Amino acid sequence: MRILITGGVGFIGSHLCDRLLADGHSVIAMDNLITGHIRNIQHLAGRDDFRFIKHNVSDYIYIDGPLDAVLHFASPASPSKTAPTGYLQLPIQTLKVGALGTLNALGVAKAKGARFMLASTSEVYGDPLEHPQKETYWGHVDPVGVRSVYDEAKRFAEALTMAYYRTHGVDTRIVRIFNTYGPRMELDDGRVVPNFVGQALRGEPLTVYGDGSQTRSFCYVDDLVEGIVRLLRSDEHYPINLGNPNEITIRELAEKVNAVTGNPAGLRFVPDGRTQGDPQQRRPDISKAKALLGWEPKVELEDGLRRTIEYFRNLVK
Ligand code: UDP
Repeated sequence: MRILITGGVGFIGSHLCDRLLADGHSVIAMDNLITGHIRNIQHLAGRDDFRFIKHNVSDYIYIDGPLDAVLHFASPASPSKTAPTGYLQLPIQTLKVGALGTLNALGVAKAKGARFMLASTSEVYGDPLEHPQKETYWGHVDPVGVRSVYDEAKRFAEALTMAYYRTHGVDTRIVRIFNTYGPRMELDDGRVVPNFVGQALRGEPLTVYGDGSQTRSFCYVDDLVEGIVRLLRSDEHYPINLGNPNEITIRELAEKVNAVTGNPAGLRFVPDGRTQGDPQQRRPDISKAKALLGWEPKVELEDGLRRTIEYFRNLVK
């Protein structure tokens, strides 16, 4: 297949490039590099089966020749209050890529007769009142809260994708991605895993926002990519959760990172660190992915953290 990946230089996008190339496909990565770093695809430079196009997908997308699949993964995704690459610092760009970017990506898929996949998010569930979250849950999102620039953009993107499926018969997929971590996250994107690992490798105390009782469920990127590949091969058009159901508190995560790195500096609680609307708990119900795709995550948190720490070791100064 000849596959277009928007956001192909980003954390998940670049891992998808590697995987799809390894599976024998030809890949075009499109990215405007506002959040992804070019180092993520440097090792692919010069390959005949790979092409990078620097372009903002919120502007009209032009691709020469046939396409068999469009994977729409472009978007800022970090909720950090301070990181310049987080969606709170890029609110309009985030709304545009979720709305106009999705429209353009769907337009290319329709024109080329290509399969389409939307990278959606557990953020469509907002600060959830149902736990764990099933695909049938409609969510609890404040439409005018600060996180809405991401949450509502992705909810709109899902609606648009379903409209292209129902109206134009585009062969669409929607994946709702829960917290994912691994090599190629940006050290300074403000998300919890790179923050903690960076701090631990510098021998600093880990900044736990609030009292650290909020929970997340962390999926290693290789597991996620396997799920995405299976979903692409399936014929499921309704949203499907991909993530790791193993739920821990942020405080426990911090203690684990300190234990694995041997960081003696402990924790530093930051009472007002949480972004408004920061979900108190999050865990995917993955029974649909299990039943339809025969998929479940395999990598234990401690293993995944070790691999991630190895990657960050070279980048931390
Ligand atoms: N968090 C934290 N310390 C940090 C960064 C994040 O305690 O240095 C918390 C944050 O408040 C949230 C959780 O970790 O409750 C996960 O945050 P992240 O930014 O990774 O993404 P989210 O899961 O909220 O999309």
